[in-house]
Amino acid sequence: MNNIPFPLEVITEDEKKYSPDYVRISAASAMALRLKSGRFARDFAFGGINLLLNYDNGCLSDCSYCGLARTRPGDYEEKSFIRVEWPLYSTDEVIERIARYAPQMTRLCISMVTHGSAYRDTLDITRRITEKVDTPLSLLVAPPVLNREKLQTLKDAGADMIGVGLDAVSKETFFKNRTDVPNGSLSWDNYWDVIYASRDIYGPWKVNVHTVVGLGETDWDMIDIFYHLYEREIFPYLFCFNPEPDSRMGEAPKPGITRWRRIQLVKHLIEHYGLEREKIKFDEQGRMIGLEMPSGKLKEVIETLDSGIPFMTDGCPGEDGEVGCTRPYGSYRPTESYRDFPFRPEEDDLTIIRRELKLEEFLM
Ligand code: SF4
Repeated sequence: MNNIPFPLEVITEDEKKYSPDYVRISAASAMALRLKSGRFARDFAFGGINLLLNYDNGCLSDCSYCGLARTRPGDYEEKSFIRVEWPLYSTDEVIERIARYAPQMTRLCISMVTHGSAYRDTLDITRRITEKVDTPLSLLVAPPVLNREKLQTLKDAGADMIGVGLDAVSKETFFKNRTDVPNGSLSWDNYWDVIYASRDIYGPWKVNVHTVVGLGETDWDMIDIFYHLYEREIFPYLFCFNPEPDSRMGEAPKPGITRWRRIQLVKHLIEHYGLEREKIKFDEQGRMIGLEMPSGKLKEVIETLDSGIPFMTDGCPGEDGEVGCTRPYGSYRPTESYRDFPFRPEEDDLTIIRRELKLEEFLM
């Protein structure tokens, strides 16, 4: 693996190369494919490759928290997305690298942006990928450019899972951050139509919804959407708001660490231990204030906490069923502690997590 020359030539801004022949890939993906030098702060296996469509006018949506938002200052080419850099490469060369490193690859994903060519180009790139490699492929879709027929065509072309970046989990926060913005107009109903259509077409546990903590929602909103999705055999994936400089929320604070850790823990308990809604206590503002735990259940909480699993990144699985897409640094800066861990947290990490959780105040 190490004697492959790198880097492939990174395409510069002046050359204006667009999808489907060119794609951006996350910096971590570029490192995994030996297209870019660099190391993660800690060593861990990494095989989730994220591709992002590239256009001269970028994404036509304008979400308040997003690095690609239309009215965020700066050239599209220079914008970051979920706070990490996305260098541009030739699509075929990226696929050739993926094929070369196939044994290390766990999950591939094409992220669409809201753009008139996004569906056509995603289909094109999907076909190019599935012709060459068997690694499971997700599509993180842009609902405004899709319908049932197109979702079916993407499945027929070999896409295995659909992700929908709902992000804002209540109608109110969706409107505030994604609809009522200068070049907004994204529709809550359209997002849910695509989520339900994807569930019908792709099947149980083949659809996921990205949910972001920190966009103005209450804890009750978060917990409610988890139940709503699990009941429909759709995965909620959890993300932590991480301010993108110069976006409209560039100065907004991240959610507090205790709130974040408790949401991670409760989500895991709902998913893996069938935690009932009525055991989760909220105050009048919708803040989670406690978990009612019979002593037998308490043991399960401690066990699950000690495993570290609730604090790992949510993401589409690889063929072995383990998380295959771990997006390192999506929710925190390389210099910050991990909000979600792309590997099992170690004992030192768990000591910190326990302190952050303040469990003794949370269990009733
Ligand atoms: S979790 Fe990863 S692979 Fe799955 S849809 Fe989201 S970005 Fe894509």
